[in-house]
Amino acid sequence: LNDATGTPERIAAPEPGVVGGITIRAAGQPTRAAVLSVGSELLLGDLTDTNATWISRRLKEQGVEVVHHLAVRDDLAEFVSALDWLAERTHLVIIGGGLGPTSDDLTREAVASTAGVELEHREDLAEEIARRFAAMDRHMAPANLKQAMIPAGADAWPPAGTAPAFGMTLTSPTPTRIIALPGVPWELHQLWDDHVAAEVAALAGRRVTVTRILHVVGRGESDVAAVVEPLVDARPEATLAFLAKAHEIQVRLTVSADDREAAFAASQPLVDEVTAALAGGVAGVDDEDLETVVLRMLTEAGQTVSTAESATGGDISARLARIPGASRALVGGAVVYAMDAKHDLLDVPTSLLDEHGSVSGPITEALAAGARARTGTDWAIAVTGVAGPGTVDGLPVGSCFWALAHPDGHVEVHGQRIPGDRTQVIARLGTVAIDLLRRRLAGT
Ligand code: ATP
Ligand code: MG
Repeated sequence: LNDATGTPERIAAPEPGVVGGITIRAAGQPTRAAVLSVGSELLLGDLTDTNATWISRRLKEQGVEVVHHLAVRDDLAEFVSALDWLAERTHLVIIGGGLGPTSDDLTREAVASTAGVELEHREDLAEEIARRFAAMDRHMAPANLKQAMIPAGADAWPPAGTAPAFGMTLTSPTPTRIIALPGVPWELHQLWDDHVAAEVAALAGRRVTVTRILHVVGRGESDVAAVVEPLVDARPEATLAFLAKAHEIQVRLTVSADDREAAFAASQPLVDEVTAALAGGVAGVDDEDLETVVLRMLTEAGQTVSTAESATGGDISARLARIPGASRALVGGAVVYAMDAKHDLLDVPTSLLDEHGSVSGPITEALAAGARARTGTDWAIAVTGVAGPGTVDGLPVGSCFWALAHPDGHVEVHGQRIPGDRTQVIARLGTVAIDLLRRRLAGT
């Protein structure tokens, strides 16, 4: 078992990692990598290092272990010492940023210094940069020619924007591949897909990992773990991580194989096994979370839904509305927080409110029927509850009711204590209510 980030623990790397004819990683050794982000903005708190997370995710998918994230200011001595330190400890260092034309862009100098080589003017790169400027109808400043200077012996890649990127292999003190990419995220992504991914595949011995995400609702984390862990333990090619969110538990299954397709195929039997073992608790897989699945099922059935929300204050509608195409099935709803609103907007009789109190089975049932009648939808979801921290009518925090009005007009009501603080109770109440609709649409 590993942590909640889904980082694979066991990645087989059977073949040695060879890039450009140089063996960087011995056979059987896991590929270790670091991300070095460059730019004073990162250390001044002005910029979040999204490049490091993006790169880590891609490296993980390719079976590489990221062992360090580091950020440095635009200072050559500090940059070089960080790069030396990382190069000594890893097979692969990905540098993001510092490839621009200004004097604070120091990646070329730093890599040359660590490699013990000079910067070299590359006429092919100079011409390519000039072409880019001409194509954009922009004037090229003389400073841009600085971008055609790269460490001697480096492999250059044509720019995505205007900054060429490059790869450089160090042979001492230990073999290390250094890859320098521009900091601008879209340029970095494009260069990764065009050039870096293939190098990483070669270095990692062509092992790729795929993470499958199962969205589990209506069950506790320890209960889910007890069911899933033995199934994953029986499969050495897979690793398991749990991510408990307020509204769902994600079970993340990571499987390694030679390529993406094979990893995906290898993961499927386990996904099916876990889904079956969780007996209806898996709302959806990968990009399909609970809301997406419910809206898809409604759309396929040509049916509609409305909501009547007290405790959740509109959160259920908002969760459904966030899914593209929601308008095909989501008609509308009412936020009926106060007693009067329940009466005025959804016709709940005052006598019923007086008799049962606003958080109760009969009121939740009446709200679902009222929403369905007012909107003319096939289904209607209603919720009431005590989200806390205070109690309501002597009911303890977490006392919740949810109801579903069916297309034939009958309404089913459920009630339960939902654990958690105010935010968690609101999220979980929304989930059980939406999940009830999912289960009924699935015919269970
Ligand atoms: P260019 O050649 O376009 O100047 P560069 O390699 O010099 O690119 P930087 O100057 O370091 O890159 O960064 C350019 C911009 O890219 C930054 O202003 C920032 O918006 C974005 N950026 C840089 N580094 C990161 C990062 N680690 N995470 C997210 N965004 C970044
Ligand atoms: Mg720059």
